[in-house]
Amino acid sequence: MKRKIVAGNWKMNLNYNEAKDLLKKLIEYKDKFDTTTELIICPPTLYLSAFAEVLNGHDWVSLGAQNSYTVDNGAFTGEVSPSQLKSLGIKYGIVGHSERREFFNEDYTLLSKKVKALLHHGLSPIFCCGEQLQVRDSNVYKEFVMKQIEASLFGLKADEIEKVIIAYEPIWAIGTGKTATAEQAQEIHALIRSRISKEFGEKVGANVGIIYGGSCKPDNAKELFAQKDIDGGLIGGASLNADDFLAIANSFE
Ligand code: PEP
Repeated sequence: MKRKIVAGNWKMNLNYNEAKDLLKKLIEYKDKFDTTTELIICPPTLYLSAFAEVLNGHDWVSLGAQNSYTVDNGAFTGEVSPSQLKSLGIKYGIVGHSERREFFNEDYTLLSKKVKALLHHGLSPIFCCGEQLQVRDSNVYKEFVMKQIEASLFGLKADEIEKVIIAYEPIWAIGTGKTATAEQAQEIHALIRSRISKEFGEKVGANVGIIYGGSCKPDNAKELFAQKDIDGGLIGGASLNADDFLAIANSFE
């Protein structure tokens, strides 16, 4: 059965009071969210602890971290570990967002370790992949995205990759207002699913959640989410507005 997943990536936005106001608004809307959708919010790491307390007992939404490191503890100034996230009850962790690949030089090997570390502690990675505009234009975008997935995820076991949510985020669509068409997104989602089925078996391919990210908004979410292999969205800008996030989360048929 098709999964329904909507995750909000707040990135490094909002001061604490603004973030609390947004969380409050989402909580006010809680009965309006489609309860069959896996709803995830990823606020700045600094706010996770307070948010976890506020959301204690709320099962309509889960918290995710935007980044985490590869080991449990030690001399890694500024980093946060999956075991620390787990101790707060955090269930998801974004890995390999294009901004981390580009600005923090995160490579295939590091990302593969980050994915494994999250899984080791029972958190589900939201693994991002996607090509730059030059790669799309040069027509090797399918190979490019497959390489990202194979290099960082194909060392996993079948029961591990089933817990990963894959977010296809064409970089040319992130924060640009230029969304991939439903056909362009579906093409890559279908390819990812078939590659995973081939490697890990049909059941795993059918169960793995594959979501789309890149200027997903209330006015295009319905068409995107209606595609056979699109299980929902990773939402950046529009997740900072409670009304837009609600509208997107309720965009499944
Ligand atoms: C993102 O960065 O994960 C993202 C999808 O951003 P936006 O929705 O703003 O394009």
